[in-house]
Amino acid sequence: AGSGKFFVGGNWKCNGTKDSISKLVSDLNSAQLESDVDVVVAPPFLYIDQVKNSLTDRIEVSAQNCWTGKGGAFTGEISVEQLKDLGCKWVILGHSERRHVIGENDEFIGKKAAYALSQGVGVIACIGELLQEREAGKTFDVCFQQLKAFADALPSWDNVVIAYEPVWAIGTGKVASPEQAQEVHAAVRDWLTKNVSAEVASKTRIIYGGSVNGSNSSDLAKKEDIDGFLVGGASLKGPEFATIINSVT
Ligand code: PEP
Repeated sequence: AGSGKFFVGGNWKCNGTKDSISKLVSDLNSAQLESDVDVVVAPPFLYIDQVKNSLTDRIEVSAQNCWTGKGGAFTGEISVEQLKDLGCKWVILGHSERRHVIGENDEFIGKKAAYALSQGVGVIACIGELLQEREAGKTFDVCFQQLKAFADALPSWDNVVIAYEPVWAIGTGKVASPEQAQEVHAAVRDWLTKNVSAEVASKTRIIYGGSVNGSNSSDLAKKEDIDGFLVGGASLKGPEFATIINSVT
């Protein structure tokens, strides 16, 4: 792990029912968690209130998306103000499922990120290449372009965590090797040094996501520039998510 406090997020995606979420929350409430780790979970919007009202304060709550600005006549959207009203401290933006399944582009994502930060909500800013982009040797180009879009939109990097999530590793069971992840994390940090500042590069946490589980997290966590994880599938299992959190080195 790097120098910042380890950060582990659980992205529950579009999963769960009132009952299954109540069980997950109770497993999380009774888990022993290393104190030196920031822990965040992102339930589906509909269950944020339930989670906020039942989950220990030790774990913060994130949304999985938000609208680009103040709420109003935007049917089906959820505003940052509403997220704050429910006690959300974070929002995940730029997730590959939103980029590649829903079709969000860099500019739209950047707008959301800037607005969330302006309202005091932290951003988990996701970047990552597709398999064909990796195979074509374009991993760094793609990640840097997505990073630049965030950099161009954001007033500051305080309250931002970068999640490197190679798309070929998300939900596939094909985790990046610790070396593959470290290589990109180091390149991202280097990009921040050259294009933002040395201070932002050293302070900003860069977390890895893509098929992280209770068996592979400790090897990944040993790498110098891996400052935590964004976890999908394995975050739906309380004890396994706790194992991942406790893999901080
Ligand atoms: C994610 O959705 O951010 C993710 C990393 O999913 P999984 O852990 O299931 O690959």
